[in-house]
Amino acid sequence: TLLLGSIFSACAERQPVPAIPSDPEIEGKIEKLLKGMTLEEKIGQMCELTIGVVTDKNNNKLSEALLDTVIGKYKVGSLLNIPFGVSQKKEVFAEVITQIQKKSLEEIGIPCIYGLDQIHGASYTQDATYFPQGINMAATFNRELARRCAEITAYETRACCVPWTFAPVMDLGRDPRWPRMWESFGEDTYVNAQMAVQAVRGLQGDNPNKVDEYHISSCIKHFMGYGVPVSGKDRTPSSITDIDMREKYFAPFKAAIRAGALSLMVNSTNNSGVAFHANKELLTGWLKEDLNWDGMIVTDWNDINNLYFRDHIASSKKDAVRLAVNAGIDMAMIPSEGQFCIDLKELVEEGAVSMERIDDAVRRVLRLKFRLGLFENPYWDIRKYDKFGSREFAEVALQAARESEVLLKNEGELLPLRKGTKILLAGPNANAMRCLNGGWSYSWQGELADEFAQAYNTIYEALCNKFGTENIIYEPGVTYVADPNDSWWKENRQEIGKAVAAAGRADVIIACIGENTYCETPGNLNDLNLSSNQKELVRALAATGKPVILVLNEGRPRIIHEIEPLAKAVVHIMLPGNYGGDALADLIAGDANFSGKLPFTYPKFINSLATYDYKPCEQMGTMEGEYNYDAVMDIQWPFGHGLSYTSYEYSNFKVNRTTFNADDELIFEVDVKNVGERAGKETVLLYSSDLAASVSPDVIRLRYFEKVELQPGETKKVVMKLKGSDLAFVGQDRKWRLEQGRFRMKCGSEILYIDCEKDKIWDTPNID
Ligand code: BGC
Repeated sequence: TLLLGSIFSACAERQPVPAIPSDPEIEGKIEKLLKGMTLEEKIGQMCELTIGVVTDKNNNKLSEALLDTVIGKYKVGSLLNIPFGVSQKKEVFAEVITQIQKKSLEEIGIPCIYGLDQIHGASYTQDATYFPQGINMAATFNRELARRCAEITAYETRACCVPWTFAPVMDLGRDPRWPRMWESFGEDTYVNAQMAVQAVRGLQGDNPNKVDEYHISSCIKHFMGYGVPVSGKDRTPSSITDIDMREKYFAPFKAAIRAGALSLMVNSTNNSGVAFHANKELLTGWLKEDLNWDGMIVTDWNDINNLYFRDHIASSKKDAVRLAVNAGIDMAMIPSEGQFCIDLKELVEEGAVSMERIDDAVRRVLRLKFRLGLFENPYWDIRKYDKFGSREFAEVALQAARESEVLLKNEGELLPLRKGTKILLAGPNANAMRCLNGGWSYSWQGELADEFAQAYNTIYEALCNKFGTENIIYEPGVTYVADPNDSWWKENRQEIGKAVAAAGRADVIIACIGENTYCETPGNLNDLNLSSNQKELVRALAATGKPVILVLNEGRPRIIHEIEPLAKAVVHIMLPGNYGGDALADLIAGDANFSGKLPFTYPKFINSLATYDYKPCEQMGTMEGEYNYDAVMDIQWPFGHGLSYTSYEYSNFKVNRTTFNADDELIFEVDVKNVGERAGKETVLLYSSDLAASVSPDVIRLRYFEKVELQPGETKKVVMKLKGSDLAFVGQDRKWRLEQGRFRMKCGSEILYIDCEKDKIWDTPNID
């Protein structure tokens, strides 16, 4: 029995509980199908091409001849992207995808899986409900809302016959220079994990083995550490330590996979020279073996070729295919060509890639298709999705936008503004739907939103509706001008004088500043400072003596420390989507209360770009003693900052035990009282600080959050449950460790101490 016991425990260690329980019926069908497939057919399933290769842009038609090559010759199992390059009506998607499906079933007898970047709602589809972007969703700190938005996204994507979205983006946005920060859930590991889990459940529903007719597959991305490029530029390498990789970057992916995520996309670049697309330890070891995950891994755009062209770790394109497939890639996302299929076939014939590896990849592709019900039901009747673009869905998007806009400053309670206030509205972001939405909106770069989103209100239109057109004077002062020779827009500052002159007629000035729309590499910056034109505009407006409210409409925190003191109030709306203007008008008028909090640190200086937990640079005065000597970060606003029109008092912070071990449950509670005169929602944040550990501990770490609604005068007890092991960290030996010693717990202004009694070390570092 002793021997048997140790065999069982060894197996148990190598074979953790499957991330998704496997379905014997599906597995049986996969094996049967696999037996009858040729090598070409198998390899075809591993290939995803862009829809551009089968559509004729000039004729707005799907080309049968091209489809013949792609599906007939290469037998590709997947296509992605928008037909004809710009957003389409759901009926166009349905027609094109039905044609592709028909061809695929006739030629190979296996349905095609179509993938699309429906990033903040069905945001490549006309007339769909566009939600705030990921960074805004994080600012809501509202799990239910995040799930509801994802559910609606699934419903509306389904209404286009699309079963697969490349979302959620769960790269930790820990470097504000990175142009995709707005797609992320911000800088914190716990917030990312929590929001991604809600997104996965909302998109997929509760049973990942049988995704129903109102849900689709998620694709969690980009695995991992994509959000911290050393250069700050998109698609450039990171340099993350092994400790942080496990503790901070892997943890959210692990949570999303355990929540049932069916597919995953790989980080385009490399970490300290080791390309993610060729990293067998991570793709096969950590994901497939350690988590016992049977989902599908897809590359990012052209990233197998990049192992050769860009990363120089392969000697040819074919060699790159060998590296990637052997590392654990199951499907290659390729812009245009079927060479991958030819190369991979040769590699198998030469023995450089095993048949077992091919079968494993194809099983994963087929499993996803079975789980999505594509075999049983390849053609969808989109008429039943009659709530598409409905009022009900719009209400959710509006609510999400309201809860995501953050009040950063409100001197002398300038806000809310009374009805009848005369407002000068200035700034290049005041009247543009594209600025509210950002990228992945109607097109990749989002520049077409002004054309396609005319039915929604810009900030200017929303303020006119709220305060009366007669009370809004619109003089932008600075405007964005498209530059035909450059992907980046220019700014025109000719009319600053006009805006200044108009200030005489106004009681207050609202300056909507920030960034124009961008996505991925075209959003790379050389300077994180807000543009000098916009700073000039704000200086000139403030010099009129009229109170200035800054509305920051931007995908990453641009540095504003020179002009911030000139403003009485600052609202950070980030990228709130099609209802962001209406939400702002409601909040500014006091018809709704602010409740959003910053999911990242707002930097003040370019040389002080550190996250709230960064060791050993303290931001918040939370550690005792001379912890940081002269490395204190002077920041603009801390992670978790956000004001409202009421205030809250915290008291009676308690815990059920003052000593604990790894398996103990720690139950914290705190009373939160609304001591103001307006109803509001407060996000309660529970932080820990490990006062001594064998690896220098993070200054402070968020361990739990809960959003509660409180009427004026009302008190609620908030209960927050943790396991002792939640306070563990990754040690020098790469194992999870909970070490004996004291922890400081902080909630609002309340503090208490708990002591861990015994060390505990996990031998299986990726499993907890
Ligand atoms: C992006 C991915 C996206 C893919 C397909 C890539 O350039 O990095 O996030 O899913 O394109 O559009």
